[in-house]
Amino acid sequence: MKLYGVLGHPVGHSRSPAMHNRAFQTLGIAATYLAFEVSPERLPDAIRGVRALGIRGLNVTLPHKTAIMPLLDEVDAVARGIGAVNTVLRDGERLLGTNTDAEGLCRALLEAGVTLPGARVTVLGAGGAARASVVGLARAGVQSVTIAARSLERAEALVAELVGFLAPVTLQAASFEPSSLATAFAQTDLLVQATSATLESSPDAERFAKSLPLAGLPRSAWVTDLVYRPLETAVLREASALGHRTVDGLGMLLHQGALAFEHWTGRPAPIASMRAALLEPPSDPSD
Ligand code: NAP
Repeated sequence: MKLYGVLGHPVGHSRSPAMHNRAFQTLGIAATYLAFEVSPERLPDAIRGVRALGIRGLNVTLPHKTAIMPLLDEVDAVARGIGAVNTVLRDGERLLGTNTDAEGLCRALLEAGVTLPGARVTVLGAGGAARASVVGLARAGVQSVTIAARSLERAEALVAELVGFLAPVTLQAASFEPSSLATAFAQTDLLVQATSATLESSPDAERFAKSLPLAGLPRSAWVTDLVYRPLETAVLREASALGHRTVDGLGMLLHQGALAFEHWTGRPAPIASMRAALLEPPSDPSD
């Protein structure tokens, strides 16, 4: 039996075990995928354990995505560009880090029918998910990305970090000032909501959505929200009401997992059964 898993803190909410175990079952692969709760100070011990136990592959979630990088034998260019590892592959005794979030988002958008080459994109947020989105979208050939954050300094810092790595895409920073957002939105083909403000646990998700000048987006603009709990976030609801085509965050979760699965097994991921597993309610909510 081959062993895989996800390292996180907390990790009990993760849907990755359900998704990957379903994929292994579907393809008749004798493997098990577990969620490993690892506190930040135990991460080096956990990686030694991964090596000693012969664990074949890992996903990595918060707060370990960056801290794990120096503990691995190699980190590929995509993960270095994003500054985070979400997938670890084993090659004999070597552990290799990569990141499938960026390509996972692009696959989800393409699957929904979004045209990425030449698109003008606005990304809301300047955290890890925003960063992965910008890297993925730039690699997919978008024309420009405006990173808009409530802290203009954070948006500017992210632009400064990525600008050399992502040339020739035009990158610019914006604040959440109404006039700044309105200017960006007026020239947007794809809006990517990459803050955590729309999580179901967020007390001001509705207020956040209503504060965005969505009515200023071109009618043809697509709107996606990376948050997948809830599936229809307040931003997607407002955007749909205005007639925009929307893409929920489940597709990115699914496709980053499918890409990891393909790296580990060398086989095409059984997308339909993985999606079905994600959509099922957790068998044990405390799990
Ligand atoms: P993160 O690194 O903690 O960044 C969160 C970002 O949200 C920061 O830029 C933060 O701004 C901003 N923010 C939070 N509340 C806000 C508010 N009320 N108004 C404006 N900005 C606000 O988190 P992350 O890793 O980027 O993840 C962001 C979200 O994406 C998560 O909630 C997660 O559910 C989702 N996600 C989905 C997938 C997927 O596969 N679909 C993958 C990764 C992440 P400050 O820096 O100013 O605090």
